[in-house]
Amino acid sequence: MHDDVIAWYRRGKRDLPWRDGRTDAYGVLVSEVMLQQTQVERVIPIWQQWLTQWPTPSALAAADLGAVLVTWGRLGYPRRAARLQQACRIIAERHDDEVPDDYEALIALPGIGDYTACAVLAFAHGRRVPVIDTNVRRVWGRYSAQWRGDDAATTKTQRRFVESALPGDGSAAAEFSVAVMEIGALICSAKAEPACVACPLRPGCAWRAGERPAPQNPARRQPKYQGSLRQTRGHILATLRECHPFEVSLAELSWPDSAQLARALDSLAEDGLVRVSDESVALPS
Ligand code: SF4
Repeated sequence: MHDDVIAWYRRGKRDLPWRDGRTDAYGVLVSEVMLQQTQVERVIPIWQQWLTQWPTPSALAAADLGAVLVTWGRLGYPRRAARLQQACRIIAERHDDEVPDDYEALIALPGIGDYTACAVLAFAHGRRVPVIDTNVRRVWGRYSAQWRGDDAATTKTQRRFVESALPGDGSAAAEFSVAVMEIGALICSAKAEPACVACPLRPGCAWRAGERPAPQNPARRQPKYQGSLRQTRGHILATLRECHPFEVSLAELSWPDSAQLARALDSLAEDGLVRVSDESVALPS
């Protein structure tokens, strides 16, 4: 199975700039944080600009948060950018400007959860660890009746299952993990019927054999963006990014729902993403 999956991946993978050793552990970390809630096509140009602007954790640590938010642009969920900068301050101060090769040190960083810590260990440091994202959960959920659990969290049994499926060698395990993610992204899709005919896992797959286990990880419906607090927060940050020197009067933040605008400003200020005074609002320095 391993050879078939890895051969399929080498033939059909997408050419992404953070793959195949073309970046360092910091580049991998930045890509994984950006990809947490944003599609890959939107991430690529921002990732490239980011690495040019701040090529090391210490460079990002020293930047103005306002400049960080400007480059983050429309990737969405901008608290990720602020947390990534906080993480890089810790990396610069406590880890000699090197992204840690240690699960406990990674998981202790702001904004880094189990998935991101494992992804960095595998894809940046070649460690043999189970990397389990939504795509991986869907692929193994279809592949094996052993995959059991609720939708929200990965169980210990599932983690053991994924770990036992990995090749023994660290770098082969990392390549196998990214290959399974790619199968989930490209052919074992959540939205359409899986394209089993093209899948290297089909010889052992329960779904393909006709068992069709009930989906245990159905695609989650995204909360509506139109009319949401997220939309208002996005409007405020987009307005600020376009107004040099990133400061506007409250009156300039025209928005039809003034109560919603006030709530969005409060929540952005609470997250440290804007500075609000009686008359104006600005990106943080
Ligand atoms: S054979 Fe089909 S259902 Fe099974 S993992 Fe591959 S694409 Fe998914």
